[in-house]
Amino acid sequence: MSMLQVENLSIHYGMIEAVHDVSFEVAEGEVVSLIGANGAGKTSILRTISGLVRPSQGRILFQGQEIHKQPAQTIVASGLSQVPEGRHVFPGLTVMENLEMGAFLKKDREENARNLKKIFERFPRLEERKGQDAATLSGGEQQMLAMGRALMSTPKLLLLDEPSMGLAPIFINEIFEIIKDIQAQGTTVLLIEQNANKALAISNRGYVLENGKIVLAGTGQELLTSEEVRKAYLGG
Ligand code: ATP
Repeated sequence: MSMLQVENLSIHYGMIEAVHDVSFEVAEGEVVSLIGANGAGKTSILRTISGLVRPSQGRILFQGQEIHKQPAQTIVASGLSQVPEGRHVFPGLTVMENLEMGAFLKKDREENARNLKKIFERFPRLEERKGQDAATLSGGEQQMLAMGRALMSTPKLLLLDEPSMGLAPIFINEIFEIIKDIQAQGTTVLLIEQNANKALAISNRGYVLENGKIVLAGTGQELLTSEEVRKAYLGG
């Protein structure tokens, strides 16, 4: 079953067309990557799916329902959660308080406690630091917190915008391991990455964006071994 369908999506900022007639889908249980150079339109697509930007053309369906006219909080409540680029933890709040913010739409205390337990199992570092001001965490720890916070809402679909950006190699490998683990636990993932090699290696399928258009689609393995992708994104 299709979890997410993006149909003929165009996005404009004033006169500028950032995304042109893009269609793709994410099936339930998949990890799907969007890869492409800076400015290709990847973030614009994620922000439109989560309701922060309105499309100028096209439709977005989540579990068969149109969502592209719905407010962002309705979209989150229906089971779609985004981890924005640059992490964005709430400074001045502790790690624990940041995680609790992720569950603000969930009134089910038992479910919240279960989610918190799972998140601490997955990110033991966050449990060790639960009383610490989130702003004082390292970059990698902040990325884990941002992912943990998104998982507190028990999303069916998790949108990740450049989760490896600016991280040390040891954290980068860990983040990709965690994404695989999130998939194994039943959450579908749409991933944007500059790190095409690592992203495609864990993806069921991927799409390559250039100047706001999809120029190539295939399985993660097909794209990893494609001459075109190797030249443009994987360093030859
Ligand atoms: P990066 O990998 O560098 O983050 P991206 O593929 O995510 O890039 P977008 O951030 O979606 O690309 O940007 C696509 C195009 O839209 C760019 O040319 C960008 O300058 C433009 N753009 C994005 N946001 C706005 C905005 N709020 N106003 C005007 N133009 C914008």
